[in-house]
Amino acid sequence: MSDRRGSLPHTGIATFAKAPYVEDLTTLDADVAILGVPTDAAAGMRPGCRQAPRAIRDASTRFGFLGRASSEGYFDINQGRTLLRGVRVADCGDADVTLYDVERNVAIIEDEVRALLSKGALPVVLGGDHSISYPVIRAFHRVEPVTVVLFDAHLDYRDEARGLRLTNNSPFRRVQELPFVQRIITIGVRGVKSTDRELQETLERGNLVFTNYEVFDQGHTGILSQLPDDLGRYYVSIDIDALDPSVAPGTESPEAEGLTYTHIKRILQGLAPRGTLIGLDLVEVNPYLDHSEQTQHVAAQLVIEAVATAFRPS
Ligand code: MN
Ligand code: MN
Repeated sequence: MSDRRGSLPHTGIATFAKAPYVEDLTTLDADVAILGVPTDAAAGMRPGCRQAPRAIRDASTRFGFLGRASSEGYFDINQGRTLLRGVRVADCGDADVTLYDVERNVAIIEDEVRALLSKGALPVVLGGDHSISYPVIRAFHRVEPVTVVLFDAHLDYRDEARGLRLTNNSPFRRVQELPFVQRIITIGVRGVKSTDRELQETLERGNLVFTNYEVFDQGHTGILSQLPDDLGRYYVSIDIDALDPSVAPGTESPEAEGLTYTHIKRILQGLAPRGTLIGLDLVEVNPYLDHSEQTQHVAAQLVIEAVATAFRPS
């Protein structure tokens, strides 16, 4: 069989960046492990992000050259460097989530991420609603302490919503309760639903919050100058609603006055020399609410460019 078979972006089975599919996680041998978590059981008003892993994979086939066994990587013209050369990506399919049982999904998702970590791969998780970040981050309990860097229009720090403690309003309140999580840095917060109480509660814990206007006014360099020089091990969670709705319309809770792609990318690039990226998730893409597949495409590219910050360029 020719190794060119199925090599066009639109041919073959749509794994992430056309990387090899690893169904049996005990056989995983890769630098980067993609895991879909297709659940929106904890979404409120406009569910549908359970479809995101499949949609993002589909869009990511544009970057199929990155999934090959001996990837040549890609040339970043702004840096004048080749990124992801020789980095082995595997697509581990989707976590075996259940419908609507958020508590059970916590255990399932945590177990699957632990399986990826036990194989030494960088877990890269495609949500799903934002509640999934909690079980994903739980899986890192052996690599303490962990700093969490969150890009989001919202704090997601509400203790409970109508008696529920793990909707997509609360994941980082639950993350805060994990003893190995040192600090949460949230970037891009705005909107009329970010409450003063949530803000005070997160600041009282020593967390950092940067609003959209702070990002606009100070730029990525201004934000980076206020972040720790030694970040240690850090985990990145990207809620696609951190981006402006003109860039990423396909999401449950779009908020005007959002960040640009460049803001997120350049902050991630600035963080990389300060610590070790140990895991990544991208959540809240809702293909049902999208226009012209715009959001899944921007999500696929953002995942790739975020992952690239974890590896030394050549
Ligand atoms: Mn959000
Ligand atoms: Mn969120």
